[in-house]
Amino acid sequence: MRAYVGDLLAGRETARAVTFSERLGTLVEDAAASEPVSGELVLSRAGPMIRVDGRVATRVALVCAACLRPFEQPLGVTIDEEFSRGGPGEHTPSGEPLGPEAFLMPIEPGDMIDLTEVVRQHLVLALPIAPRCSSDCRGLCPRCGADRNAGTCGCDTVGIDPRLQALEGWSGRSGDRAGKSGARRRGADR
Ligand SMILES: [Zn+2]
Ligand SMILES: [Zn+2]
Repeated sequence: MRAYVGDLLAGRETARAVTFSERLGTLVEDAAASEPVSGELVLSRAGPMIRVDGRVATRVALVCAACLRPFEQPLGVTIDEEFSRGGPGEHTPSGEPLGPEAFLMPIEPGDMIDLTEVVRQHLVLALPIAPRCSSDCRGLCPRCGADRNAGTCGCDTVGIDPRLQALEGWSGRSGDRAGKSGARRRGADR
């Protein structure tokens, strides 16, 4: 959904509440919004910029990192974003160059802003790095790969540190996963 902000920018309007409700579907691989994303957003003018505040919520379909089963959980995010005419990588009103931590969304030609994109980005950053279907998920057997939530497979796993069991079978892919989580965590810290 896009919103017209020309009246806000021109000072003919100071703030406007917008009801957001949209199906976003796939957010990233193995994560999709299974219900419409909905909530109330307030658009207001902040100097030459447009500020968007509010909260949206949905349910997301994920894949458990321990047992690999699909599951759903609620996901809500607080939106706090500013849009500027210059857009990303440009300058603040005072002429200071913006660092990556001051990333701004662009006000598009015709004084439109893309609310869908800002909501999508906030949801992606809020996704769990290692989702769990439940806090007591028993994961897969490190010996035979059986889903241990479904019962015991009979393998002898005594002597394996339970904290290390989850890592077995991931050798060779562990570096890859650490890289991905690292990137997402850095994004969430901005
Ligand atoms: Zn699980
Ligand atoms: Zn087993």
